[in-house]
Amino acid sequence: MNRPATVYHAPLTAAADAETVSGRAARLVDAVLRDLDLPHDLPLAYHLQDHNRRRAEEQFLGWTVPVLDGLRQRGHALTTLAPAAAPQGDGVGVPLQDAAVPFVSLARDAHDAPGLLIGLRLGCHPRSGLAGAVRATALACASADGKRALQQGVQPRIERTVCGGCGMCVTLCGNDGVRHNGHVAVIRPETCLACGDCLAECHTGALKFPAGGGDVLQERLGAYAAAVVRGKPGRGVWLAFLLGEPLHRAVNLARAAALPDLGVMAAADPVALDLAAAALLEAAAGPGWAAGCDPDHGPARDPLAAVREAARLGAGVALAPRIVTVG
Ligand code: SF4
Ligand code: SF4
Repeated sequence: MNRPATVYHAPLTAAADAETVSGRAARLVDAVLRDLDLPHDLPLAYHLQDHNRRRAEEQFLGWTVPVLDGLRQRGHALTTLAPAAAPQGDGVGVPLQDAAVPFVSLARDAHDAPGLLIGLRLGCHPRSGLAGAVRATALACASADGKRALQQGVQPRIERTVCGGCGMCVTLCGNDGVRHNGHVAVIRPETCLACGDCLAECHTGALKFPAGGGDVLQERLGAYAAAVVRGKPGRGVWLAFLLGEPLHRAVNLARAAALPDLGVMAAADPVALDLAAAALLEAAAGPGWAAGCDPDHGPARDPLAAVREAARLGAGVALAPRIVTVG
């Protein structure tokens, strides 16, 4: 009954100029829209923010603005989803049967949007495995309460006796997730998104993730993504970039460097996009690519656990996707 989903892929390297990257991105999104056959006036809510990588925003926007222009020309009215860290009190509860999270809280604008466009930079994350379309969907569409629920218990901890109080983590964090109390740094559970960027900056090793939190987070991310997709079957587009990461990610260069350039990918199925990304990463770098997703615990943990959970809950097709190369 299930057939493989199609993922469009434009192989590019960091040597490609912004015009080439954005042109390919627009072509890939066009291809997805043709397959979906969406009504031309279907309003789309979009999220094209690079989570916690604000210093890389300019480049990311350069790649994606032409995509938005193309959508407007097709007649789609576009609205933006609230940024990841914005306070937002109006969550909509969505029950989920058979999920580790039986109830998710989505942002109202994401929940009510007739269609979605989610743009992201592909990456690896020590807590959430492959940082792909499933993760981006969950983080873009969770309400403020939902984001707190996602991160609960998986945020980094600070060993007070080890913290030198340098404040580097405070300066780095774009989410006000950690503050200085005059002596040492203190995580703010209400705003910290557990992205882990501050861990790479801490020279004393005072910041650490709690053991086992990654598995919990991946289950939750899969459930949130499934809740979003189930509400808009066949009305979402995912657009992912992976190129030039070592040069353009502000932090965690060692982790970013573990991934080779893939170029641009687009699909109407976030699960298929992530599975295609994993397959292409494996083809380019061997199974060792996944080690970058969990540098503290080795490659044994499944970097696709969130993707598999999302697929199990109906967010997409778990079969190996059909990858169509677009030159
Ligand atoms: S993990 Fe660190 S950098 Fe990320 S949001 Fe929390 S405090 Fe900020
Ligand atoms: S970077 Fe590390 S040592 Fe510096 S304030 Fe933050 S936790 Fe403390």
